[in-house]
Amino acid sequence: MSQFNLGGRVALVTGGNGGIGLGMARGLAEAGAAIAIAGRNQAKSEAAAAELTKLGVKAAVVTGDVTDDAHCQRFVSETVRQLGRLDILVNNAGINIRKAPHELSAAEWKAVIDTNLTSTFICSQAAYHAMKEAGGGKIINIGSMLSIFGAGFAPAYGASKGGVVQLTKSMATAWAKDNIQVNAVLPGWIDTDLTRSAREQVKGLNSMVLMRTPAGRWGQPSDLAGIAVFLAGPASDFITGTAIPVDGGYSVQV
Ligand code: NDP
Repeated sequence: MSQFNLGGRVALVTGGNGGIGLGMARGLAEAGAAIAIAGRNQAKSEAAAAELTKLGVKAAVVTGDVTDDAHCQRFVSETVRQLGRLDILVNNAGINIRKAPHELSAAEWKAVIDTNLTSTFICSQAAYHAMKEAGGGKIINIGSMLSIFGAGFAPAYGASKGGVVQLTKSMATAWAKDNIQVNAVLPGWIDTDLTRSAREQVKGLNSMVLMRTPAGRWGQPSDLAGIAVFLAGPASDFITGTAIPVDGGYSVQV
């Protein structure tokens, strides 16, 4: 369907070498988009890119750290140099440091805020000029259930993900006139490396997730593919500034 066809489009996915980022990248590639994968671990990124090329699209690797302004600039310029343009940015790279507010150091706070929130700002700012020049674009920011709810073990993570939703609204408002739509996706509990470590660190997490999620299961990275294609293509051209849960019903049940 043309509304969901991304042929000729180019997407840059931060943290696209695993977990949710790779789940979204696979969806975008299946819809026809070429993909640039940004991450620190080059070998992991190259393996992901090799997998994506088997879907019949071009894929590039741009290695660097999303907390570094110059690296974000380079992610964008390298994407345009290697794949010809930039239409879609997925701000997905993220970390968590699970500690109570009275135990988290200022350095740990900064690491989480820089990786999850500041990176979203600097990568989007870098992409803006390329998108404006191309006549428009799509930015997809990854929030969390902790954009909505609180958790005693995630003060910086919750602050960063709440901030992602508000930043999404600001960028959506500012850049609508440039035909750039900016939306956030709020994943529920998804089975990835990030939550595998959480299951080890947070007692009772697995049974809480299964009990609290109406769908009765953990999400898989592939559950995020459809929303990525929708928010990256013409089907969502009049949708901007939203935050859409993809959570098996987690956020609507008391
Ligand atoms: P993973 O740990 O599987 O993936 C995280 C990705 O981020 C990796 O590809 C990693 O690549 C990249 N990354 C981390 N730090 C940096 C950095 N400084 N610079 C560049 N890349 C970086 O986690 P998930 O797939 O679970 O998480 C992806 C996003 O989804 C995050 O924003 C997370 O907060 C969010 N999320 C996850 C949920 C879940 O249940 N899993 C729920 C809600 C939100 P590399 O190591 O190569 O740098």
